[in-house]
Amino acid sequence: MLEAERERVAAAARRLAEEGLVLGTAGNISQRAGDRIAVTPSGAALANLDPGDMVIVDLDGNRLEGHGAPTSELDLHLGVYRRYGAGAVVHMHAPFATALACVIDELPAVHYQLLALGGPIRVAPYATFGSPELAQLTLDALQGRSAALMANHGAIVHGQTSTRRWSTRACWSGPARCTGARPRSGRRGRSITTSWWPWHRRPTAATTPA
Ligand SMILES: [Zn+2]
Repeated sequence: MLEAERERVAAAARRLAEEGLVLGTAGNISQRAGDRIAVTPSGAALANLDPGDMVIVDLDGNRLEGHGAPTSELDLHLGVYRRYGAGAVVHMHAPFATALACVIDELPAVHYQLLALGGPIRVAPYATFGSPELAQLTLDALQGRSAALMANHGAIVHGQTSTRRWSTRACWSGPARCTGARPRSGRRGRSITTSWWPWHRRPTAATTPA
């Protein structure tokens, strides 16, 4: 069941681990096909996952296949699918993003790639990992965005397809590293507006960078 999705989630887990965006067992990934979801198991090292390790659940969280339990953040993944109709979800403890989530309440749109995520990135208030409260707060922070930070915890991105998911992941990691350097510089970053992003650009003078 969901053989292609199992392969993609396992490949994504290994790639994120190779890039240092997930550490050990921290982080979880899922991909949806209709009303079924392939999700990483709880307590597994993402760098070593195989397609056969995935757990298959429905949109209500009922386990359909798999030997282990699904990720402890399953409520969060299911909520993103239900509320936003996503095709794939990645939650990670990427070091730069997590560092930002410990010290700011919102990440301004200081890099144009953040506009692909919907604009300034909200930081969901802290709640215990795996709890319904954390899922609810994070879902609220995702309103109108495809990414959010989770206070004192990590980050989440979602996309419609696996290609889009990787695009948003790439958009996320670069600006997070750039912005992570900002406090050391002692300078406040300039914010930009969504009108600068080509998808939203209209032929007006206001959209032309000065
Ligand atoms: Zn986490």
